[in-house]
Amino acid sequence: MDKLLTTKDTPATASAIHNELLLVKAQLNDLIAEARQNQEILQRHQTLDLQLIGSQSFRELIRHIFVTLADICELDQVTLCLLNSQHNLKEMLADLKIESSEFPYLLFADSETELRHGGRPLRKPLVGSYEHKEHHRWFAPYPDLPNSVAIIPLIRQSKLLGCLNLGSDHPDRFASDMGTDFIERLGSIIAICLENVINSERLTQIGLTDALTNVSNRRYVEQRMLEEIGRARRQHYGISCMYLDIDFFKKINDIHGHQGGDEVLKEAAKRIKAELRLSDTLGRFGGEEFVVLLVNTNHEDAKHVAERIRKSIANQAFLLSMTGLCDVTLSIGIATLSDDHNSGEIEEAAKALLQRADEALYQAKDQGRNRVIDSPED
Ligand code: GH3
Ligand code: MG
Ligand code: MG
Repeated sequence: MDKLLTTKDTPATASAIHNELLLVKAQLNDLIAEARQNQEILQRHQTLDLQLIGSQSFRELIRHIFVTLADICELDQVTLCLLNSQHNLKEMLADLKIESSEFPYLLFADSETELRHGGRPLRKPLVGSYEHKEHHRWFAPYPDLPNSVAIIPLIRQSKLLGCLNLGSDHPDRFASDMGTDFIERLGSIIAICLENVINSERLTQIGLTDALTNVSNRRYVEQRMLEEIGRARRQHYGISCMYLDIDFFKKINDIHGHQGGDEVLKEAAKRIKAELRLSDTLGRFGGEEFVVLLVNTNHEDAKHVAERIRKSIANQAFLLSMTGLCDVTLSIGIATLSDDHNSGEIEEAAKALLQRADEALYQAKDQGRNRVIDSPED
């Protein structure tokens, strides 16, 4: 529009200018609409950032990545691959009682080599069309594969933590010539959040773990017992408790020394744990005493597990580093809280259950040790 309308202008010129005006108006409306849309996108991404940064636990962060991120960014596939070697993550997940079925889109790589793309280390986001040979490993958990993808390395203090893999059904969503500023920023935020929650889970874990045997400590088991009794009550199942105590441990210390005794404690904890499910809880209560909580387990099943534990200790001598073989046995007392009797104050129920298991243990000692005694059903 380079000319003003004057009285001398013909109607044809006036109409051309009018059309031009309409065109400019339409362009302006488009710009306003685009600005509004950008504003909305910005707001949604701010919401996403806040959700990610606000995650208090590993579980919460992973949920935000698979649910909130996928939703806000309108993605059809999102997977996350973490390098197990960085933080011994699989062990942490077991401690957090996270089973692989809970997060089917959470993948693990054992080394950085597994994260290489086209033979090169993954250091920058890769965006473009889906290529089966290169990308299938990241999207395999999905029945429908994407048409375009973004593979974003998660790097923290120049260490690769893993990669975030975004997929879209639209072939143009991730084009190879697009700018990667946004996804690089997303990768940085997720890497920081991941490191934070992993560190915080580790710290919590340390406070609730027995340093010698690496199983839970008494504080954790007592806390867990309240939670599990509450859950058993809501979901109407039984819960069993075992009190275990190594027999004549003082003698073991006398013969094999304190270090030998420590090795026995570590090996005993390992053997007990090997007989349990991921959902069960094992804790060292002090000295040579352990407590096990078996969730969703009736009296008969608990007796079988206890007998298996007893045999796993008694049937194979312990090999100690300084003094050689050492025969070890333990005694076990069991008590079950059935669904019919799970009522009243939870703290009282927990105390009574533990006390009954302890009394049964006392009887096992009294009757000659290396045996399982169950408290009469409640
Ligand atoms: P019982 O068959 O009746 O259970 O006899 P016991 O000798 O096993 O039981 P007692 O409670 O008399 O002795 C437990 C011993 O455990 C005494 C203590 O010195 C030892 N102990 C406690 N904590 C540790 C530890 O962390 N390491 C080692 N090596 N010994 C420990
Ligand atoms: Mg004892
Ligand atoms: Mg003992």
